[in-house]
Amino acid sequence: MEERIIIIGSNGQIGTELAAALRQKFGNESIITCDIKAPTQLDPFANFEIVNVLDQQALKALFEKHKPTQVYLLAALLSATGEQFPKKAWELNMDGLINILDLSVEYKVSKVFWPSSIAVFGPHSPKDQTPQYCIMDPSTVYGFSKLAGERWCEYYHQKHRLDIRSIRYPGLISWKAAPGGGTTDYAIHIFHEALLSGKYESFLSENTRLPMLYMDDAIAGTLQVMDVPAENLRIRSSYNLTGPSFTPSELGEEIQKYLPDFQLSYTADDPRQQIADSWPKSIDDSYAREDWGWNPEFDLSAITKEMLTNLRKQQ
Ligand code: NAD
Repeated sequence: MEERIIIIGSNGQIGTELAAALRQKFGNESIITCDIKAPTQLDPFANFEIVNVLDQQALKALFEKHKPTQVYLLAALLSATGEQFPKKAWELNMDGLINILDLSVEYKVSKVFWPSSIAVFGPHSPKDQTPQYCIMDPSTVYGFSKLAGERWCEYYHQKHRLDIRSIRYPGLISWKAAPGGGTTDYAIHIFHEALLSGKYESFLSENTRLPMLYMDDAIAGTLQVMDVPAENLRIRSSYNLTGPSFTPSELGEEIQKYLPDFQLSYTADDPRQQIADSWPKSIDDSYAREDWGWNPEFDLSAITKEMLTNLRKQQ
């Protein structure tokens, strides 16, 4: 069957790379990218449409026109930005998802992908090797919109047999597109600044350990979870997933192996610190390993090498 794949929120950090990977896998003609605003650089192969995921009529027209077989919903307000605009974050993250779930049922979409986040965990969740199932008391609007979103996904799977698949991404590190306002963005800014000015002031403190994942692994994991036979999936809320966990200080030391004069300092009292302190330090992703063979390739040292090499070429 020929796939027709819609990606909503395609101009962002993940969408930019996911669209390229899906084009490579299924062919340019099969991929329809959509965002609320036009991309700064339009990919010559792009089949792009401007769509607001909160505009039900426009969304329905999009589904009617393309009759998608798969939908990837990436439009969301992220953790740090969400705290600045809490009601807007709730509206976009919830209503956007429910609009897509309803239309996917109505148009009999074969598979839907929607990402959750490690932000679904909170201060009372175990911090180390945070398990798939545990106390979840997220303290950010972003976190509890994602947790509610997971419940909706499982509900639509149970009530409507919608084949929805989801991953709780940790902080994603990439060099192609800018990050969208999350708490782990320091781990991207640091590379840009190390190359530009030789110094960086981290908005998270020295020993704040967080789970991270290199974008190539995140894309590979996303394609894997979408490919696996439905009967292999035990989880229809969202799968824990992770790469290496590290602190700003450990990342700084890794960068100093390539740039010995790199200087790292730390901001006191940044509001993002509170968010980071409520999140896991590391994640147990054994369900993903067992159900669909998840096994990330990039550790901290490989991420550092890749980021510096690719960003240098861009300069
Ligand atoms: P991003 O902010 O970089 O991109 C989101 C895109 O959605 C943007 O291009 C934006 O223009 C678009 N958008 C915003 N409002 C829209 C609307 N009303 N209609 C249509 N498009 C709209 O985000 P990202 O980092 O690519 O994240 C994508 C998804 O992955 C989100 O659900 C996010 O919560 C999740 N996630 C990301 C990370 C990460 O580290 N990047 C970690 C965990 C989960």
